[in-house]
Amino acid sequence: MDTARRNQYLQAIGVDVWVPRRSGVASDVGWAESAKPNVPGVKTSGAPQTQLSPPSSVTPLRQDDEAAWQALRAEVKNCTKCPLHATRTQTVFGVGNENADWMVIGEAPGAEEDRRGEPFVGAAGQLLNAMLKAIGLEREAVYIANILKSRPPGNRDPKPEEVAACFPYLNRQIALIRPKLILAVGRIAVQNLLGTTAPLGRLRGQVHTFGELSTPLIVTYHPAYLLRTPSEKRKAWEDLKFARDFFHNLPPKVS
Ligand code: SF4
Repeated sequence: MDTARRNQYLQAIGVDVWVPRRSGVASDVGWAESAKPNVPGVKTSGAPQTQLSPPSSVTPLRQDDEAAWQALRAEVKNCTKCPLHATRTQTVFGVGNENADWMVIGEAPGAEEDRRGEPFVGAAGQLLNAMLKAIGLEREAVYIANILKSRPPGNRDPKPEEVAACFPYLNRQIALIRPKLILAVGRIAVQNLLGTTAPLGRLRGQVHTFGELSTPLIVTYHPAYLLRTPSEKRKAWEDLKFARDFFHNLPPKVS
């Protein structure tokens, strides 16, 4: 991605771009402390965009994987394992590249997701897309899912028993995708994936692991939270750069 396009994405999410003080050093752009939505005027940047690996969607799914995905989709679609089935419009299974290196995991569907059957749509989804693009990732290159597949009424926090009922679906998605990196977004996703009650802020800037495969997991803020609290975008940008740099140093995925 060229610098101009990358800057457009950053501008679209209200992020100022700055040049590191060290002249002549190809480096990262940053999210300004006071990032505001729709603030025009990129200051300047000579930093080249680091392009991540292209999506691996060209790799065909193994036949047994395909059957497993189909079975899982059907199970989730008709799931009545927790009371949320009674109030949802439809389940929100997940979307993206089933061979993805990156998996983004959020909390639960909101009203728009419940209506459209896809995670991270609407304003928060657009911000997530822009965040991914800022580190050279297309939405289609990653796999996006939530802890819960049905919407909690009124967007309340998921109850522990709902998470317990739904978590096996996510586990199966992770086992099928075998991502190289999980980006957990938002407190609810982070705490449930890591089995902790520690605040998200204390879990940032570290590489955690998830599950039997010890999949690396990095945390950041939920785009919906960033829309409400734009002053935190700088921290989210730090997290994304941390994740991108970690990913670059990983060995190639073994399928
Ligand atoms: S939230 Fe999960 S466990 Fe509950 S009904 Fe929906 S799919 Fe089933």
